[in-house]
Amino acid sequence: MAEKYDVIVAGCGPAGLSAAKSAASEGAKVLALELQAQVGGCTGFASWVPTNLLDSKLKRAVVARLSEVRARSPWNELTIRGDFGVIVDRQKFDRLLAAGASEKGADIWLSAPVMDLIFKGGKVAGVRIKASGWSEQIEGEVVVDATGLGGEWSGLFFRKALNRDWKRELLAFSSEYLMANVQDEKSADLVFTSYLAPGGHAWTYPAGKGFAVAGIRGERIHPDIALDEFLGRYSIPRFSGSVPVASSRSRVFLDGPLDRTCADGIISVGAAAGQLYPFSGHGISYALRCGEMAGRGAVEAITEGDVSGKRLSAYENAWRSKFGTEFRIGKLMRASFGVSQDRKIDAMIRMLTEKPKLQRAFIRAFAGFDPEDQLRLLLKDEDIASVMAKELRMLVR
Ligand SMILES: Cc1cc2nc3c(=O)[nH]c(=O)nc-3n(C[C@H](O)[C@H](O)[C@H](O)COP(=O)(O)OP(=O)(O)OC[C@H]3O[C@@H](n4cnc5c(N)ncnc54)[C@H](O)[C@@H]3O)c2cc1C
Repeated sequence: MAEKYDVIVAGCGPAGLSAAKSAASEGAKVLALELQAQVGGCTGFASWVPTNLLDSKLKRAVVARLSEVRARSPWNELTIRGDFGVIVDRQKFDRLLAAGASEKGADIWLSAPVMDLIFKGGKVAGVRIKASGWSEQIEGEVVVDATGLGGEWSGLFFRKALNRDWKRELLAFSSEYLMANVQDEKSADLVFTSYLAPGGHAWTYPAGKGFAVAGIRGERIHPDIALDEFLGRYSIPRFSGSVPVASSRSRVFLDGPLDRTCADGIISVGAAAGQLYPFSGHGISYALRCGEMAGRGAVEAITEGDVSGKRLSAYENAWRSKFGTEFRIGKLMRASFGVSQDRKIDAMIRMLTEKPKLQRAFIRAFAGFDPEDQLRLLLKDEDIASVMAKELRMLVR
């Protein structure tokens, strides 16, 4: 007989682990399934997040405080000082999230990839998993697709339920190295160059003593070649003598969230649902907060005995009303620099050089930290407003 759970979560990255924790906290029997032999996404080694996202436990994953960001166009650069949040070690961060989900009673199975959905009467009713010759069906009242964007199956299950595919032309590609023997620093670089990263950017973040990450994201690029070329061309002094010790590659959907994130018996959350801030591609804070809403939404629907897409859409309404405007801001900010990216970013950097009070607002708006407030500040300045999409004004009136 197939095993039975209330909530089955596919994917143990931040979104899945947050959904598993919140569903288990509400008393549900929860199973979280992970493709890899360890929890944690295949995306990124060290991630930039706002400090207020972290509770006392998650603070243990902090490896650096970001107090300086260098923004660079092909022709100019500007060093901006301020409190720009923290860098967390992703492996440790995701392991702490798993510990939290398990403490609340969620089961976590590793090396247990979800291969397919099972349907009953047109409704998703569980999953089929397979791992090294062992295969089984697990029944669940609600399946949460939190498979992220990195892997072969990422986001496919929800798409299968809706019978849709990715808009492939809207996917950006990224590559990141963890570098060792880096001269320690507390600063990050954000490099905007349409030659190497069209529609995206390259970055370096500190990642703990002697380590840093260097990454690149762009449309229509070969991410590994672009990253090597970035490191070669922009010979960043603290990287001289450094060596890559790990690499990861991913796809990122930067067009904002899906227009539907619920169907009968299934919810999509996190990067798989496009819940990423389109300007920077950051998504951990949305993964955690939308994950929490997804877990709670699933349990409420199960408790009422109605897991139809209509009932589950209470989750969709909740995340859209909280974050919908932020996603639109991120999308429009990205669009602002979409055409003639280098010239516009360069104009922005030159303008900001003359306007120290707005420098921090730009970095925070880029990273998606209180973007509405930051944008309101930026748009008060006519010069800056002239390089931003006009629709942005409507959003932050
Ligand atoms: C290079 C890079 C750098 C980034 N930097 C930042 C940053 O600095 N700050 C920030 O906020 N965001 C950053 N992001 C975005 C951030 O990583 C994502 O928003 C976040 O990881 C999304 O979490 P998630 O749980 O939805 O997906 P993921 O973290 O991708 O987790 C998905 C999980 O599902 C598993 N999985 C996939 N398929 C299956 C399957 N069939 N069965 C079972 N499990 C499966 C995967 O193995 C993985 O563990 C970055 C992304 C990339 C690619």
